Amino acid sequence: MLTTVRFEKSVIDSILSHALDTYPREAILLLRGKKGEDELLINDIVVPPLATHGVGFSGFPSLMLPLDLRVVGVSHSHPSGHLEPSSHDLNHFYGRIMVIAAYPFQSYSDIAVFDKEGSRLRWQLTSGL
Ligand SMILES: [Zn+2]
Repeated sequence: MLTTVRFEKSVIDSILSHALDTYPREAILLLRGKKGEDELLINDIVVPPLATHGVGFSGFPSLMLPLDLRVVGVSHSHPSGHLEPSSHDLNHFYGRIMVIAAYPFQSYSDIAVFDKEGSRLRWQLTSGL
């Protein structure tokens, strides 16, 4: 049971700035990290190979994904500002968590983390430094 999701600050800041750079198209990033028994630490992001961006759609051919066991989830942006996963999102869930960044991508409250049932998970920044 996943109870804690922690992000390094640089990851969250990159998710927001990438979403802003890609706006009004959707941005998509792969999340890499470490899995513990009941917690996940996200400490790296990767731009997926052959990512496609469109209005209301972002995705990548899953067959083109590198076999990378450190990928624990996917982040994408919602230029609509709607901070909830769509049914399409849940049907294409990949990994342990889904991160959604909603327009205007200005603050940490524009980011939410979901499990594969679409339930919102609590997240926090690593307390390092
Ligand atoms: Zn979505």
